[in-house]
Amino acid sequence: MKKIVIALDGHSSCGKSTTAKQVAAELGYAYIDTGAMYRAVTLYFLDHHVSLTNPKEIKDALNNIEITFHYNPKTQRNETYLNGLNVEDEIRKMYISNQVSEVSVVPEVRRAMVAQQQKMGRRRGVVMDGRDIGTAVFPDAEVKIFMTADVDTRARRRQQELLVKNQLVNLDEIRENLQKRDHIDSTRAESPLRRAEDADLLDTSHMTIDEQVEFVMHKVASKLLEQKYSVEQD
Ligand code: C5P
Repeated sequence: MKKIVIALDGHSSCGKSTTAKQVAAELGYAYIDTGAMYRAVTLYFLDHHVSLTNPKEIKDALNNIEITFHYNPKTQRNETYLNGLNVEDEIRKMYISNQVSEVSVVPEVRRAMVAQQQKMGRRRGVVMDGRDIGTAVFPDAEVKIFMTADVDTRARRRQQELLVKNQLVNLDEIRENLQKRDHIDSTRAESPLRRAEDADLLDTSHMTIDEQVEFVMHKVASKLLEQKYSVEQD
């Protein structure tokens, strides 16, 4: 069966990556967490004191950054590597969350990441989550979902996720971070966060992960059936 691209975009912390991972596992597709890529770039920029107003420093830094994902059988998850080093835990910390949207605004950063993401998905058979997948990275994605949820629900979920990693962060701080990121992400000039015209809206405020996965799988099944019939009619 022909493989497709599934784009899950939306606001911060509304269940995109958990849903994307499960959908990818059910379909035997690759899962690509594009937020992790922007987080890894942010970590590199902070570590190397790259100035966001110095195009040469940005260009040189981007030339020195290699981001890869490797499956870890112990944790049973795909982990993010920056220049060969496992940075999965580091990039989820609050100091990265507090800087990542400013770094993601930089056009050179976006162009480099988008090009890499398009390369990763060129054979299709991928589930990608992010902010601009259905609008800029794969505007031709066969399934596009735009996910959102009310901010208090998102903040509580993010707090739980951090707690599991032994990071206790105040709910107000998390809520503020989510709102700030959503604002920067949706008002930037280059590939801002917005719902693609042909994306289905999914509000996860009152949904379980299983229900979210079911929603996406239903869309995928309809698309695959539609393709099957169009091939048979040709
Ligand atoms: O998905 P996650 O919350 O880890 O993303 C972190 C940040 O990376 C977002 O707030 C956004 O600034 C940036 N991002 C982006 N485009 C993407 C994915 C993430 O600008 N496709």
